[in-house]
Amino acid sequence: MNEQTGYTGLAAGLAAREGEHDCRGGKPSASGMQRLSLCPGSWLAERAYADETSAAAEMGTRLHKHMEDGTTPDDATEAEAVEWCRGQEEWLATKYAGPAAAECVTRENRWWDAKGKFSGQADVVFAAGGIALVLDYKFGRVPVAAAANNMQLAALALLAFDNMEGLEVVFCGILQPFASRKEPRVVRYRRESVEELRGYFYRLLAEVEEPGARRVPGEEQCRYCKAKVECPACGGMVKSHATPAVSELWPDWTPEKKAEALRLASMAKKWAEAVERKAKGDLQSGAEIPGWCLSAGKSSFKINDTQGAFGQLNALIGLTGEEFAGCCTVKISALDKVVHKRLAELAPEGVKQLVKKSAEWLRSALEDYGSVSTTDGSLKEC
Ligand code: SF4
Repeated sequence: MNEQTGYTGLAAGLAAREGEHDCRGGKPSASGMQRLSLCPGSWLAERAYADETSAAAEMGTRLHKHMEDGTTPDDATEAEAVEWCRGQEEWLATKYAGPAAAECVTRENRWWDAKGKFSGQADVVFAAGGIALVLDYKFGRVPVAAAANNMQLAALALLAFDNMEGLEVVFCGILQPFASRKEPRVVRYRRESVEELRGYFYRLLAEVEEPGARRVPGEEQCRYCKAKVECPACGGMVKSHATPAVSELWPDWTPEKKAEALRLASMAKKWAEAVERKAKGDLQSGAEIPGWCLSAGKSSFKINDTQGAFGQLNALIGLTGEEFAGCCTVKISALDKVVHKRLAELAPEGVKQLVKKSAEWLRSALEDYGSVSTTDGSLKEC
């Protein structure tokens, strides 16, 4: 049953708000509560900056849409992540909200709290018998705050109670396939906690609107804050930890100090990238930055039609297929896609060809024609 069930009393009103220019109505949303709880000043600080996008953010949006629409990405890695999320959510729904809940699912509904102070969009909600499981997908590679301390989940729990009639218990969890494949930890909220949650969020929302709201820098909250390039609090934090004598000091640092230094280094890197992006924009628009200029861009020639290119060279100078193939590199991700499509067509009726199985088949079929190489692992938080 892919409908709103008897729980979503306010859904119609919420759907109307979705059509407005800003579906959040210019108000905070659950997805920002983690940062606001850590740095209340970031709400007003970020308002001066336009939204930024990145390849990672675009992938997140794309995969959320696949989850919502029930479709499969073309890219094998993304397809596998989506399949993993689907398997997990079905299993978790049954485990926490009972077998009936797996059939009562709503996706991407924007909810508002009872007083319209903030909203939130739950990626997926399973509900039955007064119990709901609210899940959020994160497609980044850095793990987010654990469910028990995650303010986005706490805000979604409050919104679930405000919007779903007869709800007694809300379980909330996060699926983050690129950061962890362990069973997701799930946090439980009971109806008795509603007023406590509401009090916390309403106090926080009152604080974030204050012009002098505290700015509290930290790696987690500054990482994706749009204000970080010019925020004195963030800059002060990076400077206070910067030391030119890393090689000398490193052996004496405790493992905890090293972990902290790594988190700061990652933030400083993002800060530097943001500064470079802004400076490049300035220079491109003709503004001056003393001592800096843009180097000339490099041009390169790219073949878009491989078959046509070979035909042309064969006709003009008699280049052989072998000679031409020796200059080509096969994109394994593109080949994965084509082969998966073909294997799915060849699969017996009623048998679903999994993307992962297709990828395994391809590597095994081409065992004598390729090799596996493994790069050094990169640093990541785990
Ligand atoms: S950059 Fe950091 S300290 Fe500054 S407003 Fe944003 S989250 Fe707060």
